[in-house]
Amino acid sequence: MNTCSAVSRRAALALALGAAPLAAPALAQRAARPVALSTVAMVGDAVRSIAGEAVQAETLIGEGVDPHLFRPSRADVSRVLRADAVFLVGHRLEGRMGEVIDRARASGRPVVAVAETLPRERLRAHPDYPDAADPHVWMDPVLWADAVASVVPALARVAPGHDAGPNLAAFRARLARLDAYARDALAPIPAERRVLVTAHDAFSYFGARHGMQVESIQGLSTEAEASLARIEALVALIVERGIPAVFAETSVPDRAVRALIEGAAARGHRVALGANLFSDSLGAPGTYRGTLEGMLDHNITAIARALGGEAPPRGLNGRL
Ligand code: ZN
Repeated sequence: MNTCSAVSRRAALALALGAAPLAAPALAQRAARPVALSTVAMVGDAVRSIAGEAVQAETLIGEGVDPHLFRPSRADVSRVLRADAVFLVGHRLEGRMGEVIDRARASGRPVVAVAETLPRERLRAHPDYPDAADPHVWMDPVLWADAVASVVPALARVAPGHDAGPNLAAFRARLARLDAYARDALAPIPAERRVLVTAHDAFSYFGARHGMQVESIQGLSTEAEASLARIEALVALIVERGIPAVFAETSVPDRAVRALIEGAAARGHRVALGANLFSDSLGAPGTYRGTLEGMLDHNITAIARALGGEAPPRGLNGRL
């Protein structure tokens, strides 16, 4: 027994020593790259696309987690305070992170709220946030490209040798292509059906860009409960306009959306539950839907196909 464990200890030691020369350079390389921490994946994907390998792009708020309700843990706070640069959407999207963002700002490192760099006249106002604008800017990819261009000066501070220009241009081109795809896919939807019914009010920029009326059960934030009166009003609208589908969202519970479907059924109108839309979160990291391009492709394709537009089942890039 003793011999055995001595042998296995030696084996483990040999393995550890053998592994060390491989592990050390990898660790050193990782440590050498500045950490660019984004609150949500919509920003993190943009930073990764624009910075390439020049920084270690990380995202704080995970897949399917609602940023309106996200409260940072102590470990999250220390990640924010240790990061070399911090990027967020702003306009109260990360409503419970104000204090830690202020602390990061006070430390002198670059902190950029990308939506807040756009002039107010390009943003949409909302009665829920009289002192801010609607933060869901990524729903209009052309506007979002302008918003995330604001990360470039901050990246230049933490990774001075990196030329972000070519990556930014390629990122912009991808988003412009998505925008054109959305225009074509949604164009055939008849006027009376150009109504997007969702769980919370995240699609106002999408609606404005594509001439669609957006109706949601909850307001701009998911913090307030869905009201029964609002659900009844939406059921009436769905029945009256013959709307064929309503949509749940990956980061919001779908109870209230199901109540709409039941309410319409009780009034003799069958309305389908469309594919879950990505509103305030991307899909799983490492997947196509885990990128901003894949997330928007998923949304555009699902909305077009459910409401009478024309889109291929596997989307713009054949990757859905
Ligand atoms: Zn939202």
